[in-house]
Amino acid sequence: MVDPGSYKEVIKEIKKNFLIPKAILLTHSHIDHINGASKIKNIYPNIKIFSSEKINSLKIHQIKEKTNKIFVINKKIKILHTPGHTLKHISYYIKPYLFCGDTVFSGGCGKLYNEEYFLMYNSIQKICLLPNNTLICSGHEYTISNLNFSKKFLKNIFFKNYFIFVKKYLTKKKILPPTRLKIEKKINIFLLCNNVKFQKKIFFKNEFFYPWDLFYYIRNLKNNTKLI
Ligand SMILES: [Zn+2]
Repeated sequence: MVDPGSYKEVIKEIKKNFLIPKAILLTHSHIDHINGASKIKNIYPNIKIFSSEKINSLKIHQIKEKTNKIFVINKKIKILHTPGHTLKHISYYIKPYLFCGDTVFSGGCGKLYNEEYFLMYNSIQKICLLPNNTLICSGHEYTISNLNFSKKFLKNIFFKNYFIFVKKYLTKKKILPPTRLKIEKKINIFLLCNNVKFQKKIFFKNEFFYPWDLFYYIRNLKNNTKLI
């Protein structure tokens, strides 16, 4: 399991599906991602907890800067170091799934608690290099708010139709299923910063020299935009 922010729902699912949990994969140490870990460990003492950071008194298998893969019941899990939201944020790639915590959300990206714009830009580019059919599993459901912000920049028909689909879907369900990377490359403004066509069309007047300048500009604009 990845980032158990609480434990009751997780335990319920484990029991309902007769699962034997083997590992907890933590992307970063924010409380809403780790809060359930110790209770789950108490119930399943053999479970291994993987993390890039030490977490209170939890016994963890530390993922170091050089670690690029781990094994859980002989299954290889690729580690992507994705600093930006936090300095030691990591993502787990289990083809075709990417568990990217608070790095990329559908239509958006995580906040930067250390103002490391360049690191976050690079982490997002790293994710963009994964296969286009990668399923992005994010830490939160913020799609409507993200697309509401982006709609003033992205006016193409694909974006409009996708937004209609998302709004319809989220009237019935609480969260969207994981989106494909190839869709994010069309609707997620933060993945488009090195797209020259997009830069020129939308932001040419600001004359950004580097794509991370554009990323900085958009991220700050979003920080200062109040959305419902
Ligand atoms: Zn977080």
